[in-house]
Amino acid sequence: MTQDLSFFDKVNLNFDKAARYTDYPKGLLEQIKVCNSSCHFTFPVKRDDGTIITIHGWRAEHSHHNLPTKGGIRYSTLVNEDEIMALAALMTYKCAVVDIPFGGAKGGIQLDRSDYSESELERITRRYTYELIQKNYIGPGIDVPAPDFGTSEQEMAWILDTYLTMSPDKLDAIACVTGKPIEQNGIQGRREATGRGVVFGLEEVCSYEEDMKRAGLSPGLRGKTVVLQGFGNVGYNAAKYLSEYEAEIICIAEADGAIYNPNGLDFEKVATFRAENGSIRHYPDATFIENPNDCLELECDILIPAALENQLTAENVNRIKAKIIAEAANGPTTAEANEILQERGVLIIPDTYLNAGGVTVSYFEWLRNLSHVGFGRLGRRYEESAFNAMLHFIEQATGYQLTDDERGPVHGADEQALVNSGLQDTMVNAYQEIREIQLEHGKDKIDIRTAAYIKAIHKIAQSYMQLGIFP
Ligand code: GLU
Repeated sequence: MTQDLSFFDKVNLNFDKAARYTDYPKGLLEQIKVCNSSCHFTFPVKRDDGTIITIHGWRAEHSHHNLPTKGGIRYSTLVNEDEIMALAALMTYKCAVVDIPFGGAKGGIQLDRSDYSESELERITRRYTYELIQKNYIGPGIDVPAPDFGTSEQEMAWILDTYLTMSPDKLDAIACVTGKPIEQNGIQGRREATGRGVVFGLEEVCSYEEDMKRAGLSPGLRGKTVVLQGFGNVGYNAAKYLSEYEAEIICIAEADGAIYNPNGLDFEKVATFRAENGSIRHYPDATFIENPNDCLELECDILIPAALENQLTAENVNRIKAKIIAEAANGPTTAEANEILQERGVLIIPDTYLNAGGVTVSYFEWLRNLSHVGFGRLGRRYEESAFNAMLHFIEQATGYQLTDDERGPVHGADEQALVNSGLQDTMVNAYQEIREIQLEHGKDKIDIRTAAYIKAIHKIAQSYMQLGIFP
């Protein structure tokens, strides 16, 4: 029984399963698996009413094989050391799977953000950053946080500002955190990146006819019914891009209930309704489901858990009817549930691959910050004139005058276009490599998750071996 295992143990089970398909020395595999360092901070914060409370926060750096380490900071009541170490490990494997040159890290503060005012959250975030600086757990070449569950661009701006105040003469200090607001050295497309990456990944996975046939589906996303658990930044953006592909969102679940309409929900109207009413409860044109967990058991083509870990478990797995499970959250499927779903032929697209869009665009933001120039700034106008000159040459050589439609929008790529192109390329290439590994070992022998872990183990092992630590 794996039910009593901790979250980190469960991540390690997936690692061990994949490690059996490699022949690296035991010591090397152990070194990849362990969490290199972690720190528990406790500090006092004054509330608005003058009372003092003690805050518990953590930061874990799972793997130093590449520096800086990278990973989000979450605010949630469930945060504890084990969870943070498990999520840091997932970051290590995720970065390796999509070829991002970072080690994995994760941080968290144990709180429910709705219990605190904006100014209290600011004081907590700034003090947490101060602790990170004191313990050397933050820096452009050390460890670079980002948003995660319960945090946003605002917290990243406070982290940046605190870091800048403490290191005024460091030229690269703006690269100490990613997921920042655009006005604070952020990058176009970072906010949407994880949701967009989920959809680029889904599009790629669903493009293989034989794989879709195995799952009892036709290729492509058009017309596929989707159940979405979690309508935060990741869930909202996944819904947005899925709608562009004409997939049908039939259920959206939040912590306080779910809304269901078999004929499809308009994600934009749902978001507006929630903004106006503070909840999706009483949304018209839909049936309200009191227990949001029930939505996981609905009949659908694609189930997207986009909230927290341990959602599909031994307890509910036999009632799950989805044909594809797209893990937008980190660790939503337990090892036991994974095994059973796999046997039933359900296609599980693992978190270590599918939600890597966030860290991918964080990587672009970090590069942008280190180079102190926005992508596209140098080449955009040059590309535009080169393109125009070529069209002009074609017109002269052929004597044919292109219409405005034929010319299309002639401009060089801006930052948003380059970020999207880099993100799509990353998601497509990574999946092709994972699929290759899966085919090599046999699709009936290993699932996509195991193939992704095999890829990650190879990458990290190679990097250790190049360091000369292991033979
Ligand atoms: N929190 C996100 C994740 O779990 C993003 C991490 C990052 O951008 O560093 O992948």
